Amino acid sequence: MGIFILLPFRIEDVILVRGPQRTSVVFRYSRGNGQLTSDMTWPLRGRINSYYGYRGSEFHPAIDIEGNKGDPIVAEASGTVVSAEWDGGYGNSILIEHENGVMTRYAHSSKLYVTTGQPVAKGEKIGAVGSTGRASGSHLHFEVIINGEHTDPLDYLK
Ligand SMILES: [Zn+2]
Repeated sequence: MGIFILLPFRIEDVILVRGPQRTSVVFRYSRGNGQLTSDMTWPLRGRINSYYGYRGSEFHPAIDIEGNKGDPIVAEASGTVVSAEWDGGYGNSILIEHENGVMTRYAHSSKLYVTTGQPVAKGEKIGAVGSTGRASGSHLHFEVIINGEHTDPLDYLK
């Protein structure tokens, strides 16, 4: 038997995630023009060893930034943590909602320093570089998602 929740907005606009106490947390994705009111900061400084786009037949919806295990990963803009937990091939993964339809994901962390529902500031330490999940070598897999669609993070980073 399932649990049905009546939501006051369209189902495509929400994500249901489990909070730290295994209670359901409802987030509303913001939608908008995909523009942040301030520049993004780099979540990790390092060599980019994989770009956004096709790798053979597989589409890579992110950039991979090399780092050493334990190096700090920071939030690229202020926002709210939508999830910070193990997520299959992403390993320890953090998803942050920002403003105007912008979300970011930080995957393969060795450590998570934030929890679901927590507000974060731009530049705040949220995790540590690792190789958890489907990863070869320590790196940060960094995605930018606009209104639910992946886009090239390098269009946002300066
Ligand atoms: Zn990647």
